[in-house]
Amino acid sequence: MEKQRVVYFDNASTTPMSNEVYREMIDAYGSVYGNPSSIYKAGRDAGELLAKARERVAKAIGAKPSEIFFTSGGSESNNWAIKGIAKANRDKGNHIITSAIEHPSVLESCRALEREGFKVTYIPVDEMGVIKYSEIVKAIGPDTVLISIMTANNEVGTIQPIRAIAELAKANEVAFHTDAVGAIGAIDINVKEIGIDSLSISGHKIYGPKGVGVLYVREGLKIQKLIDGGHQENDMRAGTENVPAIVGLGKAIEEVTENIEENNKHLRSIRKYFLKQVSTLIHNISLNGHPTQRLQGNASISFEAAEGEAVTVMLDREGICVSTGSACATGLNAPSHVLMAMGKEVEDAISTIRFTFSKYTTKEDIDYMAERLRKIVKKVRSISAIRIYKNKVEL
Ligand SMILES: *Cc1c(COP(=O)(O)O)cnc(C)c1O
Repeated sequence: MEKQRVVYFDNASTTPMSNEVYREMIDAYGSVYGNPSSIYKAGRDAGELLAKARERVAKAIGAKPSEIFFTSGGSESNNWAIKGIAKANRDKGNHIITSAIEHPSVLESCRALEREGFKVTYIPVDEMGVIKYSEIVKAIGPDTVLISIMTANNEVGTIQPIRAIAELAKANEVAFHTDAVGAIGAIDINVKEIGIDSLSISGHKIYGPKGVGVLYVREGLKIQKLIDGGHQENDMRAGTENVPAIVGLGKAIEEVTENIEENNKHLRSIRKYFLKQVSTLIHNISLNGHPTQRLQGNASISFEAAEGEAVTVMLDREGICVSTGSACATGLNAPSHVLMAMGKEVEDAISTIRFTFSKYTTKEDIDYMAERLRKIVKKVRSISAIRIYKNKVEL
């Protein structure tokens, strides 16, 4: 039997690992097993690998190595930043500002704090997914201790004005956290230049391994620990470090930040080709997110009256991996909170597919997908409850 081709357009969910990352990890697995906290040679060897990775991450974002803390991933980093900064500044105030389109690890951390008596303002976005800056200005009060706004949105690719928001936070003596998981490697980020107090990174969104991340914490920032225990990570995050994964993250961030322009050039051309193919073959579609202020690797498209869940399942049968713009809750096709915040109708939100590309995506991948997608969208529309409900015959 012929092996089915797999075409992967879901790089915002996770990226494949780069070969160089893999190689450095295998070396680390094969040669270094010591605990980096041990004082004998095997431990020191592991400690050296940690130090090197820390330097690589620091260099990639313009921080000091002592400001880099390894975690279990982007979710932990966001939990730590939000809960840790809020609680450490509880004497100053109990108000947090975030946006309506953050990743669940940010939104749910805020909800957890609300249950503990914190007040949270969820800033709305415009129809292109840009956070309303003027609403942040209005929301800041004497009790505000933290503003958390993502650098770029993972569903529609819109890049947020974090420089202006960081300045605003600073002027008001409020800490500024940003979830940069989707932005690292896509845009140049220098934490000192922008004025970021804490920033989250994840390994598996930048061609690195899963289950490892970073929280950058500006020197002097008031933040509580999230994981209590031993004295690892300068006594800020307990637990024996996952050395090979950290080595992989270090290599991954070095690779992506050294090749931002080259990768963006590739992604821009892939995206352009993709949009041309899809818009030629399929009608009644709309593109979500900001036209220019955006990640090049993301194309979120609403296919009128073609339920995203059905399209995704049918594409899977052809070996094509995409995801819906929606969080799939217990088998229900729940509309995406991001698309709803952008003012989409429910039926358009649930008829949305997110295609996310990588440095490995080729035009052949898109050619393979385009005609199959056309047929599938046509088929789904022919049986679509939305179409019948809205009395639309021609699509
Ligand atoms: C994937 C993602 C996260 C979570 O990172 P994990 O390492 O999977 O926990 C957080 N924020 C954004 C924007 C993401 O895309």
